[in-house]
Amino acid sequence: MGEEKSRLLSQIPAVHLLAERLAQARPGLPTVFYSRAARRLAQELRAEILAGKKVHLDEEEVWARAQALLTEEARPHLRPVINATGVVVHTNLGRSPLAPEALEEILAVARGYSNLEYRLAQGERGSRYEHVRGLLRDLTGAEEALVVNNNAAAVLITLNTLAAGKEVIVSRGELVEIGGSFRMPEVMAWAGCRLKEVGTTNRTHLKDFEEAIGEETALLMKVHKSNYAILGFTKEVSGAELVALGKKYGIPVVEDLGSGCLVDFSRYGLRKEPTVQEIVRTGVDVITFSGDKLLGGPQAGIIVGSRELVERIRKNPLNRALRIDKMTLAGLEATLRLYLEEKIAVEKIPTLRFILTPAFQVKKAAQKLTRALRKAALPGFAFEVVPTVCRTGGGALPLADLPSFAVAVTAADFSPEELHQALRTGEPPVVGRIEGDRYLLEVRTLFPEEYPLIVQAFKRLSHGRS
Ligand SMILES: *Cc1c(COP(=O)(O)O)cnc(C)c1O
Repeated sequence: MGEEKSRLLSQIPAVHLLAERLAQARPGLPTVFYSRAARRLAQELRAEILAGKKVHLDEEEVWARAQALLTEEARPHLRPVINATGVVVHTNLGRSPLAPEALEEILAVARGYSNLEYRLAQGERGSRYEHVRGLLRDLTGAEEALVVNNNAAAVLITLNTLAAGKEVIVSRGELVEIGGSFRMPEVMAWAGCRLKEVGTTNRTHLKDFEEAIGEETALLMKVHKSNYAILGFTKEVSGAELVALGKKYGIPVVEDLGSGCLVDFSRYGLRKEPTVQEIVRTGVDVITFSGDKLLGGPQAGIIVGSRELVERIRKNPLNRALRIDKMTLAGLEATLRLYLEEKIAVEKIPTLRFILTPAFQVKKAAQKLTRALRKAALPGFAFEVVPTVCRTGGGALPLADLPSFAVAVTAADFSPEELHQALRTGEPPVVGRIEGDRYLLEVRTLFPEEYPLIVQAFKRLSHGRS
């Protein structure tokens, strides 16, 4: 090791002294935060020195870094971010932001005790599923409804209840993998069912299903091709055709809708996505979908369908392990209540509002944000409104483009990647996106209250570099 490196290493402040000084400067925090921040700083400095980086060991700079690390240690790990990616249902960013009505209900129920499993009128034990059962039946037209932890759980428990030890017939074109680790063949295995694949990737005919039906067949299944589409020479069997086939052989039909929406997007000029109500009307026996995708509510799995089958699913002992919690129920009930008037739902539920905002309105919003950023007169930064295309995400409307507008940022001192990184690691974090050689702030997924926070973030960047 060079003499210079040894000299620098010996100048790294002692961890315990630094921790003490932090405790004096910002008292009142759990003591581990001070020592963790001090230790992290010492480790970082050491690594930088050994890597031959130019390290500033002047007192002021070291102290500023120590305080920044303490701030980082002291704040929650899970925290809000500003979604400027333009992907409305962004699984990595927490999917659906909730409507204020849902937030209020969650707070009210979580703050104290509730009638989660208690019938107030009778003074006797009730069921947690009663709180949303009626709403779901009214909104979807289904006979019966049940909610569980998420849609993966809904599919798992449905398959396990109705087909454990038996065969489930699915088209090869629908054996999907959905982000992370939800793969239909694996879910089948976990549910204890045998998957019987029929047809080919691009074409499956009704006769493929019919020929596969045998003694062991317990279910016919349809899976929404959430995150991809097969184009060109294709043929898929519709839910209605499967229902007719199922009736003929006395075999129930299950459909995993994935996103599942209650409003008809084609009425708002978007691509048609079948609504849950429409699928219920085709006669599919059990339908599963997510609470936090197009529905715009909290994470949940919703199961609707025939009284007899849903009741069997509810009684499956697995349900105890997959059950929905009270905060989720409170948020889900409030979200579903908004759907009782579609006009209210599309206005109040952020996911719906973001998807349905017309391009000209997004453009106006982008102009507003651009004006605010320019007004801050940040040296070295330039802002410009540009047309873009957004996606709904979350495995919904996979091919539907949402014409949109973004604020393109160019900076004298930052490459697009540097800008991306700096904004992501600020507080609050701003997550935009890079397209080609431009950094973009997509405006479709922003709440207007976030504009001043974005301006602040750029001000900090601007000061940081000057
Ligand atoms: C998203 C999705 C799932 C998983 O739903 P989660 O709510 O994320 O558990 C299952 N099936 C399909 C078709 C999906 O799109």
